[in-house]
Amino acid sequence: MRVLLVEDEVALAEAIRDGLMAEGFDVDAVHDGLDGLWRAREGSYDAIVLDILLPGMNGYKVCQTLRDEEIWTPILMLTAKDGEWDEAEALDTGADDFLSKPFSFVVLLARLRALFRRGAPPRPAILEYGPLRLDPGTRKASHGEAEVALTAREFSLLEYLMRRDGHVASKSEILDHVWGIDFAGDPNVIEVYVGYLRRKLDQPFGTQLIRTVRGAGYRLCTDAS
Ligand code: CA
Repeated sequence: MRVLLVEDEVALAEAIRDGLMAEGFDVDAVHDGLDGLWRAREGSYDAIVLDILLPGMNGYKVCQTLRDEEIWTPILMLTAKDGEWDEAEALDTGADDFLSKPFSFVVLLARLRALFRRGAPPRPAILEYGPLRLDPGTRKASHGEAEVALTAREFSLLEYLMRRDGHVASKSEILDHVWGIDFAGDPNVIEVYVGYLRRKLDQPFGTQLIRTVRGAGYRLCTDAS
């Protein structure tokens, strides 16, 4: 079992690391939030023990960023009992469990084992349509062999169209799902973003995958017509 430990109190981090290693875990310890985020993205950990008050980026932000990127590694957050942060907030940001400092090592171990047993929620499946491929887990999109960089909104729009699997998505459905039901701006924003997607995913490849269906909305299509 591989554990990433993000804790800036070096003595505490070392004590936890040594204890976990004595229990047979593989442990990487880092002392900075940004370092922790980077490791969590790159490494394949079975769990992350994450302090809240950290230099670089706080634990809430690290947790939220990972969840926004759909990285579902179980997270045990370390909260300070008398701190300004509370446990409800830890869970709100997507942590799976929390532990108030000071804690005993035995309790930490028990909580970690419980997290391992639960495991990470299943990762969303990779979507494919014709040459398009989109991985909601890693937020990567590609056309054939070519990886295409998309902004968050472009990604969401493409994801929505791909989930429709060739069926028409109306403008109001797209607005609700991609921009949110309380979006009050100009609905023509969809056309603008469809344009961005075509410039990235169709024009460079000579394809016409993203079609406008007059009066109805948009859909993906692999026919040459
Ligand atoms: Ca700290």
